[in-house]
Amino acid sequence: MSAVLAVDLGGTWLRAALVGPNDDIRSRIGTIPTPSGAPDCARAIADAWEAAARPARLAIAAAPHCDAAGRVIRWPNRPAYEGETILPPDLAGQVDFRILDDAAAAALAAHTVGTPDTARETTVVFAIGTGIGGGAVVGGRLLTGRSGAAMAVGHIKVPAASGLVCACGEIGCLQAAASGRALRRMLGQSDADAFDIFALPASIRDPVLDRAADALAEALATLARLFDPHRLVIGGGLGLSPLFDLCAERFTGGGRPPPIRHPHGADAALIGATRAGFRAFA
Ligand SMILES: [Zn+2]
Repeated sequence: MSAVLAVDLGGTWLRAALVGPNDDIRSRIGTIPTPSGAPDCARAIADAWEAAARPARLAIAAAPHCDAAGRVIRWPNRPAYEGETILPPDLAGQVDFRILDDAAAAALAAHTVGTPDTARETTVVFAIGTGIGGGAVVGGRLLTGRSGAAMAVGHIKVPAASGLVCACGEIGCLQAAASGRALRRMLGQSDADAFDIFALPASIRDPVLDRAADALAEALATLARLFDPHRLVIGGGLGLSPLFDLCAERFTGGGRPPPIRHPHGADAALIGATRAGFRAFA
């Protein structure tokens, strides 16, 4: 079977790879900083499609909330994209196109496939990076909600974030305490510079990280109680960092299994986009 051009459009990086039907990454087309606007993003995707020898399927795992045609409806972290389309105009009609939320893609990637358990089990994913997203596969079906915006876990309210103002304008969201963007702001780092929180002195980073881990553990426990999932998964660049261990040790889910690291690591969104591209899930 042919491969999918899988694109992971995150808040910081745009990544593309050609991926086969068994999650096999055949070639990594490239990784570039996320373009500042949608037209440049669409051009970068068109370039990746050319570089991948024009595959018949294109699937995008996107951090912003988009419609099925690839138009960005809402992206608080990058408002310049809103109202614009990231699907290259030349590709419309030439490719079998799928677009889905990047955390939903990570949930598809973490779920079992091709076994009797596929249609029975539930997988819940937290993707922690520049922002915080969530995804769930319930009984083998991706939970999308009415508009494709289900599982916006970054904006559920948690006690550890009380009083903190979120990018969405509300107060007390998980994302205001634990997203990469919020951590940068609290530590006085600009969004433009490369930044490794774990390279900072412990006296500076630990109070901020402690609150982030508390907020995440509270949200994870809430989702564990709501879904009673077979697996509770943490992914995303920040989620796969040592922050994972801080969350896991604070997790109290009423005896439910603790969170695990995403089995596909940094490739979670690419693998999930591919599975959506092959329509491995209804
Ligand atoms: Zn919010």
